[in-house]
Amino acid sequence: MKILKNKIKIIRPDDWHLHLRDGEMLKSVLPYTAAHFGRAIIMPNLTPPITSVSDAIDYRDRIKSNLIGKENFEPLMTCYLTDHTDPDEVERGFYEKVFTAVKLYPARATTNSEFGVTKWNNVHGVLERMEKIGMPLLVHGEEADPEIDIFDREAFFIDNVLSGWVRNDFPALNIVLEHITTKEGAEFVKSCEKNIAATVTPHHLVINRNDLLAGGIRPHLYCLPIAKRDKHRRALRSAVTSGNRSFFLGTDSAPHTNSSKESDCGCAGIFNAQNAIEIYASVFEEMNALEEFEKFASLNGPNFYGLEPNREYLVLEKKNHRIDEEIELPDDQDTIRPFLFGEELNWRVVDG
Ligand SMILES: [Zn+2]
Repeated sequence: MKILKNKIKIIRPDDWHLHLRDGEMLKSVLPYTAAHFGRAIIMPNLTPPITSVSDAIDYRDRIKSNLIGKENFEPLMTCYLTDHTDPDEVERGFYEKVFTAVKLYPARATTNSEFGVTKWNNVHGVLERMEKIGMPLLVHGEEADPEIDIFDREAFFIDNVLSGWVRNDFPALNIVLEHITTKEGAEFVKSCEKNIAATVTPHHLVINRNDLLAGGIRPHLYCLPIAKRDKHRRALRSAVTSGNRSFFLGTDSAPHTNSSKESDCGCAGIFNAQNAIEIYASVFEEMNALEEFEKFASLNGPNFYGLEPNREYLVLEKKNHRIDEEIELPDDQDTIRPFLFGEELNWRVVDG
């Protein structure tokens, strides 16, 4: 990594948690990720979800066929874990280099998670196999029980599921606790062995629940897990800038149309792919930790997954620019609002 007066040069980063959707939406959002990132872990929560090796091969082909001019970008596919997932199918996908990981959604925890796991016993055999073959489990770490307060669901999940049976029954399983949003999440990961890591989104490093709710509800800042109190945002900022190898970049960029966000029952998800790396850079600069930026963005993730870092580089320059108000969708009247739309950013990718 090079830090010059107004520029930083880092190994090309990867996005270890990304929603690309499908069809026209995929076409519209993919170029933003492929412009800055070398690889991305692609979430399998389509409708219906990606549950077999052949589903994943087809989806990967659809992604690759839309990579015009950015053919080096590598989508890393995941398998959606259900009550009925077959351990043999998961293992075959892993050895055939189709599946990089398995994604666990507790049933009904978030967007398109109704196919997720309803009873932990149902997935015991799959987790056992994954532990044996060294395949990572990516966890949406929220308790789905509607009785539990939405702001407490992550901490509850860590206490009751992760700290309990997952670590006792599968102590060697590689786990990524995805998009952590709490002090408890950051502390849990720090207290664990090296087989447990976490991704952190740009939005959870920038906003707290006041930004979402005080002075009027901001549907474009609504995501799951929901933004928490400011002490949690501050804990996340300390964790990612600490140089700890267990934290790495995962944007959770999750596009929805403007009309589905600004609605009586608005969808959860923030689209940030366009400016994510620049927003992360601002956070590291604000924390006086730019020298730790490349580890978080480009090194810790590949290290956890046992992959080589990218060979290419990305250059960011200190340069003010305004985030787009909206992104047009083809063949549709609708648009997507990017995270922090219309606001000024002080870092810009100048060479990617
Ligand atoms: Zn996600």
